[in-house]
Amino acid sequence: DTTTDATDIRRLDEDTVARIAAGEVVERPASAVKELVENSLDAGADSVDVTVEDGGTELIRVADDGDGMGEADLRAAVRQHTTSKIDGLEDLESGIATLGFRGEALHTIGSVSKLTIRSRPQGDDGVGTELVYEGGDVVSVEPTGCPAGTVVEVADLFYNTPARRKFLKTTATEFAHVNRVVTRYALANPDVAVSLTHDGREVFATTGQGDLQAAVLAVYGREVASSMIPVEADGDELPVGPVESITGLVSHPETNRSSREYLATYVNGRAVSADAVREGIMGAYGTQLGGDRYPFVALFLEVPGDAVDVNVHPRKREVRFGDDDAVRRQVDSAVESALLEHGLLRSRAPRG
Ligand code: ADP
Ligand code: MG
Repeated sequence: DTTTDATDIRRLDEDTVARIAAGEVVERPASAVKELVENSLDAGADSVDVTVEDGGTELIRVADDGDGMGEADLRAAVRQHTTSKIDGLEDLESGIATLGFRGEALHTIGSVSKLTIRSRPQGDDGVGTELVYEGGDVVSVEPTGCPAGTVVEVADLFYNTPARRKFLKTTATEFAHVNRVVTRYALANPDVAVSLTHDGREVFATTGQGDLQAAVLAVYGREVASSMIPVEADGDELPVGPVESITGLVSHPETNRSSREYLATYVNGRAVSADAVREGIMGAYGTQLGGDRYPFVALFLEVPGDAVDVNVHPRKREVRFGDDDAVRRQVDSAVESALLEHGLLRSRAPRG
């Protein structure tokens, strides 16, 4: 009977499915770094040290002093769709506090790299556990001496997906993406000591004891830090719209760069980009910035969970608002007020 047999449509084996999925979550070293740093922050770490070699293509190491994991947790953590963070869709809809929740980062990173995790739970006096995972399989699980917390090492990213490996850019470009990601988290978490080291050279280290201003100083240096002015607007100070408060720092118009890279914007603590937010910022600076020049910004928006869709993209970088126009006006107004207050804007005609 040929009607059931004569088909070219086959079910893909699990390894292939995992590698395809990995390509969507882990596009480049920076996306793995993002997932690992989020896990460290979700684990309540006070310090997160990121070390990369060759832009992250040879090695990514993220070490934290968070909750840590025992052996059973460690084995569960690398399985697909395992998470300790949500129980079901209801948790997603009620607005979750943790950064990760899909329970696939470690599994997918591990399916396209050589992954080693050493971990020991806080308050556990025993030795820790080391789990080695390669191309999607657990290779070994052994006791090992290690400090409380977790160290995740991702070596040879995309070693088994040559097409994706070939697609990677130069070390400098890949590192620039890594730097951008780690910077975003360092600025959003001034109470966590975040460091970044590339090929043996420390790129920056925040103290974890300071405020946003101190984090900006550690990450961008004195010239930029000294040009930052505070933005703080909520309630009646904002035009009508979904955003409840806008706080952060924006640079003097003369401290600018030709790249958008330094626009660090956050919605409910998440580093995201949103056209409405960027357009609001640029609108406030108006003609004070030359064409294609961008300020340094670390701007935090608080928005009710139901006014923002963070799930539009699997990498959760882009968000949409129910009312983008209102958000644009709110951001424009908050940033403009700050600049005006510091005498940094020629006042402009009120807009209707
Ligand atoms: P998710 O973060 O979406 O839950 P992951 O695959 O990133 O999924 O992680 C799976 C689980 O492993 C997490 O839910 C958490 O319980 C545990 N885990 C991962 N990284 C860490 C870490 N650095 N410290 C403590 N636990 C961790
Ligand atoms: Mg995660």
